Amino acid sequence: MKTTTVHQYAGLLIAFGHGNGDPGCVSGQFTEADMVRKLKPYLQRWANDANLKIAFYMDNLYQHAADMKKYADWIVVEIHMDAAAKPQQGGHLIIHRDYQPDAIDDNLIMVIKNHFGLVTRNELGLSKRDDLLNLNNARNWGINYRLMELFFLAEPTDRAYYLENLDLISKHLIEAVVGKAIADDKVCICTN
Ligand SMILES: [Zn+2]
Repeated sequence: MKTTTVHQYAGLLIAFGHGNGDPGCVSGQFTEADMVRKLKPYLQRWANDANLKIAFYMDNLYQHAADMKKYADWIVVEIHMDAAAKPQQGGHLIIHRDYQPDAIDDNLIMVIKNHFGLVTRNELGLSKRDDLLNLNNARNWGINYRLMELFFLAEPTDRAYYLENLDLISKHLIEAVVGKAIADDKVCICTN
């Protein structure tokens, strides 16, 4: 894990994708908006353990895009699940075309890799774009921002894994931002 510049920022803003009536992608009974928000209590707990100030954007940041300006000196991580005609296993991280991945990005890509594997976009696990609203706003406003596509919602193996490992995934997301381990991983093979 790489050392990060977390101490230069006011805290971590987690922006959950979609919401406010926009389900995001849908697969059977599952919606992206509901699924990403399941991480919230776990992220809160691990941020507390790491003494990391954390805020959650639960509204739809696409409908209220200017709200990100309130977090200009924060680290922003927007969380989504991907959709495709043929879902693959794995995920990727999106940054603005003008940005280079920083240590937080590199650490977050490793979290996706360790839990779901990586799909290749511009590079393995990394996509550089300039056609997404919040991505472009963050670039224009100088905000430390990235968007994670954790996995494909319609991919049943990754989806089941996600639902069974919300706590461990959240621990690793917080550790990726603070750049160090908070505690040992406790592996629970729960049968009930
Ligand atoms: Zn999405």
